[in-house]
Amino acid sequence: MPEIAENLKVVRERIAAAARLSGRRTEQITLVAVTKTVGVPEIREALEAGVTDIGENYVQEAIDKRLEIGSGPRWHMIGHLQRNKAKHAVEVFDLVQSVDSVEVARELGKRSLAAGKTMDVLVEVNVSGEESKFGVEPPEALSLASRIAEVEGVRVQGLMGMAPFLDNAEETRPYFAALKAIWDRLPGDQRSFLSMGMTQDFEVAIEEGANMVRVGTAIFGPRRAG
Ligand SMILES: *Cc1c(COP(=O)(O)O)cnc(C)c1O
Repeated sequence: MPEIAENLKVVRERIAAAARLSGRRTEQITLVAVTKTVGVPEIREALEAGVTDIGENYVQEAIDKRLEIGSGPRWHMIGHLQRNKAKHAVEVFDLVQSVDSVEVARELGKRSLAAGKTMDVLVEVNVSGEESKFGVEPPEALSLASRIAEVEGVRVQGLMGMAPFLDNAEETRPYFAALKAIWDRLPGDQRSFLSMGMTQDFEVAIEEGANMVRVGTAIFGPRRAG
C-alpha cells in the first residue's frame, strides 16, 4: 500500500478507537487532511484513499491547488484570514474555520452575498492563551459567535481551537475540555462542528468531544520548511 494510504489507515483506526472511547462512531468524526506545503500528487493520493475534506492555511496556495484538483473535496480555510483576502477565500473555500472578528465575518458575508452564496464559518477561539495564537479570547467567544451569527451571508457552524504544543498530549486535555464547554453553550443550530485536535493530540481532542480533527503530519509526513 502506498505510504499516504497506509498512514491514513492508521489515522482512521486511531480516530475510531478515540471515538469509541467517547461513545461515538467513527462516521461522526470528520477528518480534515491538512495539506499546507503538500503537493498536488500527494493530495490526489489522499483523495483516492478516501479523504473528503482538505485544510489549507493560505488562500493563494488553496487557489492554485483547487485549480488542479477541483471542487470534489470540501475545502477548509484553517489559517489566519486577512480581511483583504476574504473575496478570494469565498471563491475557494466551503468552510472558513478561522474567523475571529466581526470585521472579517462582515467582509466574508458581503463577498458571499455578491457571489450568491452563504459561507459556513467557525469561530476560532484562543484556548491556549498563547499570545502568538490567533482567535478570540474564551470569555468573549460566545458573544462574538452571536454577533457573527447576525451577519448576513455567513452561517456560524461551530468553533475551532488549538491546544498549546506540549510534550505529553495528555496535558492538552483541559484546553479541549474548555473549548467543548463553550461549544456546549452555543445555540443548537450553531453546533455542527467542534474542530480541535491535530497530529500531536487528536485522540485526546476526540475524547473531549471534537467531531472534526485537522491532521497533516500523521498523513503526509513532516512538512518541508518554509
Ligand atoms: C498545520 C495545522 C494543522 C495540522 O498540523 P499537524 O500537526 O501537521 O497535524 C492543524 N490545524 C491548523 C490550524 C494548522 O495550521
